[in-house]
Amino acid sequence: MPLKMQDLQLLKVKKLITEYEQKYQRAPHAVTLLAVSKGQPVEKIEALFHAGQVLFGESYVQEALPKIHALADKPIEWHFIGPIQSNKTRKIAEHFTWVHSVDAINIAKRLNDQRPAHLPPLNICLEVNINHETTKSGVLPEDVSSLATYCTALPRLRLRGLMAIPAKQSTFTAQRETFHSLFLLWQSLRHQGFALDTLSMGMSNDFEAAIAEGSTLVRIGTAIFG
Ligand SMILES: *Cc1c(COP(=O)(O)O)cnc(C)c1O
Repeated sequence: MPLKMQDLQLLKVKKLITEYEQKYQRAPHAVTLLAVSKGQPVEKIEALFHAGQVLFGESYVQEALPKIHALADKPIEWHFIGPIQSNKTRKIAEHFTWVHSVDAINIAKRLNDQRPAHLPPLNICLEVNINHETTKSGVLPEDVSSLATYCTALPRLRLRGLMAIPAKQSTFTAQRETFHSLFLLWQSLRHQGFALDTLSMGMSNDFEAAIAEGSTLVRIGTAIFG
């Protein structure tokens, strides 16, 4: 198969992640790359899979399901990262390995109850409205601990960490400050005894700042697919 544009972009992003791990004294391979394939066709996902990318993120259930079915013979790990409507939880629980955008008790409960018995528990992150934006989805920082407590008691969910989509910041320093506040919240939950190993933060425009502040998973779309 000829080397495609997005394969080169993938290599470039992976190289940058390694570079930032070194620059900010992170452990080698501390940061996982989730390729965000929303809006992208099956052929491009398949090509990236053949180039070594295994984790893919989707934001819309309707769009994701046909792609997941078309690629069912590949050991791709699908992550749901979009807003969750309660009438979509069943499909999410059935077809994804991870959900990054859990932000309410009723959604967590539905995902737990609808997770098929033959599958391992669903890995989840709680989405945090880290900048207290009025229109944003996500749980407010002050409410994260009680939602985490609730989720930990659900046997078909496995609480892995926190996720945020920060408000757009105009400087690198401001990006770092926002990510640092999410990192502190994550650390405080860990100190409270929650066994969290995932800090899902950083997108195409801010993943350097996220890695500097302790991200363990970056969600990259545009920088790979254009
Ligand atoms: C689309 C999306 C991304 C990827 O954003 P890019 O800027 O294209 O890298 C990451 N996370 C979420 C939740 C998204 O919806």
